[in-house]
Amino acid sequence: MLFLLTGGTIDKQPVYLPDGKTFDNDSKVFGETHLPEMLEKAQFLGAHSIKTLFMIDSLDMTDEHREQLETAIVETDETQIVVTHGTDTMPETASYLNRNERLAAKTIVLTGAMLPYSVGEESDALFNLGNAIAYAQALPSGVYVAMNGQAFEADNVRKDVEAGVFKPIK
Ligand code: ASP
Repeated sequence: MLFLLTGGTIDKQPVYLPDGKTFDNDSKVFGETHLPEMLEKAQFLGAHSIKTLFMIDSLDMTDEHREQLETAIVETDETQIVVTHGTDTMPETASYLNRNERLAAKTIVLTGAMLPYSVGEESDALFNLGNAIAYAQALPSGVYVAMNGQAFEADNVRKDVEAGVFKPIK
């Protein structure tokens, strides 16, 4: 399994609003990825490698970033890929990857979190990552978004910003 990291809230350093409790959704502070720690905590023992492509808020993601991600997927022999990504443009990136027929033999699962892993147990990061890992091993080839305990097919998923959850379009 290959983990490709692109940033997003899952890997942000938490910046709190003046109340000291609420995470500032607009913050864009990144440090080192937390993924190795997350995999250790989850006791994931499968063979894997991790590649950090960039650490950005997905609102700042351009098609150049998406091309870089696509190239990393084309170039690897791995067929099970988990991509960590910001939630705001995760559906767009899933659709972008879904257009490329050269990726059709792989199972590509994008995931992220509404709260940074580093805020602790309130974060959905570990749950989502665990789901993504399972889906990458269990689902047939294709591009998926794993959020809220569900695997959504690319081109049929949207983020309901008000509710803070992912839903199918149809
Ligand atoms: N703005 C963040 C992003 O898309 C939101 C998130 O990851 O939940 O990177």
